[in-house]
Amino acid sequence: MTDTKFIAGNWKMNGMLEDGRQRIEQLLAFTSSKKAELKENTQILVCPPATILGDLKNMLKNTAIALGGQNCHTEMSGAYTGDISAEMLKQQGASYVIVGHSERRQYHGETSELISKKAEAVHKTGMTAIICIGETAKERAMGEAKKVIKSQLIKSISKDTLYADNTIIAYEPVWAIGTGETASQADIEDMHNFIRHILEEKFPTIANTHILYGGSVKGANAKTILNYSNVNGVLVGGASLKIQEFCKIIEASF
Ligand code: PEP
Repeated sequence: MTDTKFIAGNWKMNGMLEDGRQRIEQLLAFTSSKKAELKENTQILVCPPATILGDLKNMLKNTAIALGGQNCHTEMSGAYTGDISAEMLKQQGASYVIVGHSERRQYHGETSELISKKAEAVHKTGMTAIICIGETAKERAMGEAKKVIKSQLIKSISKDTLYADNTIIAYEPVWAIGTGETASQADIEDMHNFIRHILEEKFPTIANTHILYGGSVKGANAKTILNYSNVNGVLVGGASLKIQEFCKIIEASF
C-alpha cells in the first residue's frame, strides 16, 4: 500500500472560491505536465474548506488529485446546527476526511474517543479517514511523547478498523505545526517506527497503511523527510496554500 508517497494539503479555514479555483488551476498545470512521475510515485490530496469542495470537484474530475474534508460529525444527519456529515462531504467530492487534527482537539475539545466515532462515520460512507495524532511540547518535555501517541492512536482508531483498511495515520507533533520548527530525523523515525509497530500488533488490517508526517513541511525539507524510515507521505498546512511550494513538495516524492 505504501509504494506511493501520499502528499496531502490541508488548507484549514483559508480559501474563498476564487482563491481555491486559482490554486487548483495552478496545481493542475503542474500535475498535467508530470503525469508519468505521479502515476508511479505519488498520491495527491487537497482538503479545502467544505464550502468550496463542490466547485473544485468539477475542476478535478478525471485528474490525479483527490479531494478531502477537514472534519465531520459522527452522525450522518440530525439536529446538529452548524455541523457537516461525512455523507455531505462525500456528495461534494471528498474521498478522504481528516479527523482529530490538533486544532480540533485543542479548540473544540475533541477527544480520541470522539475521533474514533468520526472515523467510523467516514468509513460508513466508503471514504478513507486520516487520523491525526501528536504530542504537545510540554508532553514531550515531560518524556511522555510515546505514551501520549500510543494512547491517542489506540483510542482514535475506530473499532471497524479491525475489519476495514481505509485509515491513514498522520503523526503531527503539535509543537511543529505552523511554527517553522520541524521535528528531527531521530524524532520522526522513532515515532513512525513506534506507530507502525503498534499498528502491526493491534490493527493488522492497516499495518501497511500510509503514515504521514506533518509539521512545517516545505519544499526545502520535503525530500529529506520523505526518505525517512516509515514516512509514507506528508500532511502539509501552510505550505499547501502556496502552490509553487506545494508543487516542490510533490516533486520531492518522485
Ligand atoms: C497541519 O496543520 O496539519 C500542518 C502540518 O501545518 P503546517 O504544515 O503549517 O505546520
